[in-house]
Amino acid sequence: MSQTIADRLNQIRVNIPPQVKLVAVSKYTTTEAVRAAYAAGVRDFGESRVQDSKIKQTELADLTDITWHMIGSLQSNKARQAIAQFDWIHSLDRLSLASQCDRLIQELGKSPKLLLQVKLAEDPHKSGWTEAELLADLPQLEKLQNLDIVGLMTILPLGLNGDQAYEVFSRVGELAAKLRSLGWANIQELSMGMSADYAIAVKAGATMIRVGSQIFSGY
Ligand SMILES: *Cc1c(COP(=O)(O)O)cnc(C)c1O
Repeated sequence: MSQTIADRLNQIRVNIPPQVKLVAVSKYTTTEAVRAAYAAGVRDFGESRVQDSKIKQTELADLTDITWHMIGSLQSNKARQAIAQFDWIHSLDRLSLASQCDRLIQELGKSPKLLLQVKLAEDPHKSGWTEAELLADLPQLEKLQNLDIVGLMTILPLGLNGDQAYEVFSRVGELAAKLRSLGWANIQELSMGMSADYAIAVKAGATMIRVGSQIFSGY
């Protein structure tokens, strides 16, 4: 292969400020490729399926300082495992899941950092709160005192141009600011941007980007 994983990581890093956290999305790659990224300095890895990631995490258990991020949509029957296995969950996308997580966190004594997944552009294929839905659910969410909610996450619909993508990402930042003004002071993180659009997301204020294929495709 012409480019190593380290080369590809360097190409991404020159495009983003150092304070933006790069989550390397390893869902389609091998443990060898994860090790290569680790050797090149990556410590944050994103997975989208609880069971697949368990296998990877077990094989990589010697790399004790990896931070594991759950980024894929989470079925209720996988919530327990997800809380046990992950340091971050980016895909908290509905009230029923939030209240289930609240109970499980208490029971398991493990409290991953949580991001609320929002959907600020119409997309029948993606889950997440619209702004109106989230504002309506806030009083209920506020009662779930075990949840460590630290930000918002979004996935854009396919087919937006650069200006449209920037506009939607910016609205996620504005929504976070609105939530802070309503007393949710911990909503500081914005997880947005993937291989195709991370540069736009960073311009719009992303604090974490989730990049998979641009690092790992072919590995
Ligand atoms: C797969 C995935 C990514 C990474 O996508 P790439 O286009 O491969 O960078 C980011 N976020 C989520 C939620 C994903 O499922």
